[in-house]
Amino acid sequence: SANQPGSGVGRLGLAPADKPVLRLAGVERRYVQGERTLDVLRGAELEIRAGEIVALIAPSGAGKSTLLQLAGLLERPDGGEVFLSGRAAGKLDDAERTAIRRLEIGFVYQFHHLLPEFTALENVMLPQMIRGLDGKTASERAKELLSYMKLGERVGHRPSELSGGEQQRVAIARAVANAPRLLLADEPTGNLDPKTAHYVFDALSALVRASGLAALIATHNMDLAERMDRRITLEEGKVVEM
Ligand code: ADP
Ligand code: MG
Repeated sequence: SANQPGSGVGRLGLAPADKPVLRLAGVERRYVQGERTLDVLRGAELEIRAGEIVALIAPSGAGKSTLLQLAGLLERPDGGEVFLSGRAAGKLDDAERTAIRRLEIGFVYQFHHLLPEFTALENVMLPQMIRGLDGKTASERAKELLSYMKLGERVGHRPSELSGGEQQRVAIARAVANAPRLLLADEPTGNLDPKTAHYVFDALSALVRASGLAALIATHNMDLAERMDRRITLEEGKVVEM
């Protein structure tokens, strides 16, 4: 129904389900660094459909984080267009962009950015409360997600009382708390040892598979990338399939 998260909000209306969840068309992004201009993205093209997990693998400085920030509507491109479920982001005002970001996109970073004074449960409840859900509903969904991430016994712990892998699993649960269409992860296991990285990735992909969302995951971990549906890289500012 139109009240479900992920199906649009207010005058954004329902997003067509047949469109790719994310499409980049001729996306350009440049940074001015003192005297010189750095062209990071030079006409990037990309399509990701619901249910796909795509690995973004490229050396440091290639533009992975830049691409994720543009896809997540945290930045605006200097050229080209970002489409989310068929809607051109450039045509949306700030309020509409914020609504899409809150309701349709989940973010996971290398460092968890959990709120230290809140428990795991409260961290996963918070985005739902901001969206306007009542505490009981938010708490039930948070518990469900945390048990799915095998953190059922840890819901009352603060981030400082959790291991690195557990903190990342809470961050993943939080990222999908509002049932987004798109999950953007920027080196989500980059701070973890290989064994923990695998465990966290398994939990992440199970959750992505179960919820049918699209995921774009920047990683340096080739083992993990091998297990995703597709692998892309950045070459001279363009997306190249591997
Ligand atoms: P990656 O995530 O692949 O390491 P980034 O997207 O972070 O790459 O950065 C790509 C390039 O753009 C780097 O050379 C970086 O220094 C530069 N860059 C990124 N963000 C900014 C910014 N806000 N201002 C200036 N230069 C930036
Ligand atoms: Mg980066």
